[in-house]
Amino acid sequence: MAVLSPLIVACLLVLAAVLHGYGRHRARQRKIAAVPERWRERIAARVPQAAYVPPALEALYAQRVQAFLRDKRFVGCDGFVVDDEHRLIVAGLVGLLLLRDDAEVFPPLRSVLLYPAAFLVPHDEPDELGLVDDEPVEQIGESWQGDRVILSWQDVEAALRGDAVNVVVHEFAHQLDDENPWSEGAPRLAEVGDYAAWSQVMQREYERLQRHRRPPVLDPYGAESPGEFFGVVSEAFFQQPQALRRHHAELYALLAAYYRLDPAARPPPWP
Ligand SMILES: [Zn+2]
Repeated sequence: MAVLSPLIVACLLVLAAVLHGYGRHRARQRKIAAVPERWRERIAARVPQAAYVPPALEALYAQRVQAFLRDKRFVGCDGFVVDDEHRLIVAGLVGLLLLRDDAEVFPPLRSVLLYPAAFLVPHDEPDELGLVDDEPVEQIGESWQGDRVILSWQDVEAALRGDAVNVVVHEFAHQLDDENPWSEGAPRLAEVGDYAAWSQVMQREYERLQRHRRPPVLDPYGAESPGEFFGVVSEAFFQQPQALRRHHAELYALLAAYYRLDPAARPPPWP
């Protein structure tokens, strides 16, 4: 039988305590959760990807980031102490995914859990024989339907340095995917007609990745399922935009239209 790791249990208990205290200490907690001063400058200094936001979308970006900072609770796990810098960095990255006019700031999402590094979770998926392994698996991020996202801080920082993996983008792409319960791998789109174009390009590229032994840009993990594919292509869009545009022009154009950003048009933002 799978057993909850002590780390996860400790974290769940902290979360329960925090949620439990919400009503009584509402005023104080609101103050703690306020938008930090000079938030935009501080994000610009720490999140190179924030330079993708064109001047015309700055006001919208500000709304999204501020709403995320105001409404979402951050919980440090396994001894991790969350400060404003951590909150600003996560909110600064998440805001980049929400620049559509009709985007909402993940209404069902309540908490972002931060671990110092990769964390162990119980392995509860049965294998092909129907057996569940007792060995916990190491994860760098998880997205629970609606309610919470869990991130390894070490891996968030790697994304800021230009690593191909961007765990924030990946997990929040799963949250976007969950907003559309009718299909896996497609977020909520503005027009019904948009789904045809979306599935045409995504399906073709998904099958291409499944055939490819050594894909030049996309992480082979994206071939696991349409949901993972959307997570992986979103990461490539933000972390390797020029390579994505060069090797997957249609896919790049689809994501550029959806996210309303054109990161490949700028010099790489990595220091
Ligand atoms: Zn995933």
